[in-house]
Amino acid sequence: MNKGLKIVLSGPSGSGKGTIVKELIKDEQFLLSISATTRSTRQGEEEGVHYFFKTREEFEGMIAQNELLEYAEFCGNYYGTPKAFIENSVKNGKDVILEIEVEGAMQIKKIYPDAVFIFVVPPSLTELENRLVGRNTEAREVIEQRLARAKEELALYTQYDYVVVNDRLVEAIDEIKCIVRAEKLKSSFYGQKIENVIQN
Ligand code: 5GP
Repeated sequence: MNKGLKIVLSGPSGSGKGTIVKELIKDEQFLLSISATTRSTRQGEEEGVHYFFKTREEFEGMIAQNELLEYAEFCGNYYGTPKAFIENSVKNGKDVILEIEVEGAMQIKKIYPDAVFIFVVPPSLTELENRLVGRNTEAREVIEQRLARAKEELALYTQYDYVVVNDRLVEAIDEIKCIVRAEKLKSSFYGQKIENVIQN
């Protein structure tokens, strides 16, 4: 069985990457790495489905026990990727999505240089603000913080292999699926398959 891909998906808060991921994982080829966070639960979020919700003490315990592959502080809260899940999933041929912010993505780049890095951007900053206000999940002060952070994050797009503009959701998803298909046709990914061709 061929190994799966590690797909790192970043983009400013409100770029719609969460919605993209929700659609992608309807296909059982994709699995989402569930992160740990210290931020409070939003309405409708469930423990172990959207995040593993932790206190700061618990999170710092996870750091001390070396349980996280990467972690970062984003707008006052910790977010981190638990280790074991990714390696196991990839071994089983699944494509694992890490939906994480840029600092964490850069840590992953050092650990997994073979991961695919995709940056999702909104069509404009005005649209980004409209989406953040419209989803009604954060206080105005938090929205301001996230908008400021979005501008910093947008400047880092060159660190990613691909940029997807999320104007129309269906198109953005289609583009990401195209990226995944192309990545799997790369010669560097082909190892085992080509051996079979050569020997038969
Ligand atoms: P939110 O609070 O909107 O769910 O997430 C805030 C930011 O944290 C988003 O950019 C999201 O991609 C990022 N994030 C979620 N999980 C992780 C993680 O495990 N590690 C890192 N570095 N960022 C994460």
